[in-house]
Amino acid sequence: MSKNGRAAFLVWSFASVLLIRPALAYGPVGHQTVGAIAEQRMSQTTGGRAALKRARALLGGDSLARASIWADQIKSGTGRLAGAARRDGQQFLEGQFKGSAIAEIHHDFHFTDLPFQRQKYTAGAIGTTAIDVVQMTAECISVLQGKSTSLSPPIALRLLIHYVGDMHQPLHVGSGWIRRSGGSFEFVDPDDADPQGAQNDIGGNNLVFADGSRIVKLHSFWDTPAVTAVMAHRISSGDPTAFASDLIRRKVGLSGAALSGDVSTWAQKIADDALPISKQAYDGISVVSLTGKRFKGSPIWNVELPDGYKDRARDLTETQLGKAGFRLAELLTRILKA
Ligand SMILES: [Zn+2]
Repeated sequence: MSKNGRAAFLVWSFASVLLIRPALAYGPVGHQTVGAIAEQRMSQTTGGRAALKRARALLGGDSLARASIWADQIKSGTGRLAGAARRDGQQFLEGQFKGSAIAEIHHDFHFTDLPFQRQKYTAGAIGTTAIDVVQMTAECISVLQGKSTSLSPPIALRLLIHYVGDMHQPLHVGSGWIRRSGGSFEFVDPDDADPQGAQNDIGGNNLVFADGSRIVKLHSFWDTPAVTAVMAHRISSGDPTAFASDLIRRKVGLSGAALSGDVSTWAQKIADDALPISKQAYDGISVVSLTGKRFKGSPIWNVELPDGYKDRARDLTETQLGKAGFRLAELLTRILKA
């Protein structure tokens, strides 16, 4: 390539990175931040460094930040993946899990829809499933501890890194259940309501609000704009590694991150801790009307956010990202350091 040709190529590459980034990178930015926090935190202790070395070997050299988005990347197949990520993806999608074909069910591994009014996650309760994010997180931990062989250890690790992040997104554990009451709508615990009356909003996927001229799903707001808003507030770049360093330096979420007991109980504990956070994410939201559209068997509702909601979301998101990263570091250190 000539000198001019190379310069043109570099400009083109840089431009395409800029063009591609918003679509590709900002959805996963929360996960990458959690992975980067865990990796940096683990590098600070002897046990953490030993665990990180084993983790990187299991991941075929991928960083935790890179591995953190794999469980979402394979939702559209393995076409964009290379190396160990692609090999693991093919093995996973062709694999069986508890008698079901993973390719058909793995989208449901990322969340549970427990009524946000609950104090605790209870297996079998309304909104939970045997393959929800809490059960799957526990299963991945079990595989990495050598107590189960339902998944291979490299795949269990890729999934675990992702699901720990998901459980800290406030709408991945608690969900709204809505009942019509006269001319208006209210959030209820479906066990307290007329059983015919309450319908699941699918973790806010079925709640939409007007943001300027755009219509935004509440769930998507917490997935991405809430994360990029706090990132832009704290650092000048859109780099998850730099953001992770900033969160570690300020110890964001650290005081609330500690979990007690054996790591086999931690999936449940993380879910229990997530429920009051989900409740805060629903606090003050008014369900205004039905849109007339449906998704996953439930109606889609128009909602209005209370004043100051986005500022509150920014603070909550920051704490949750920190907590997730510190917990992931501790979890992986305990499981993999030996
Ligand atoms: Zn996910």
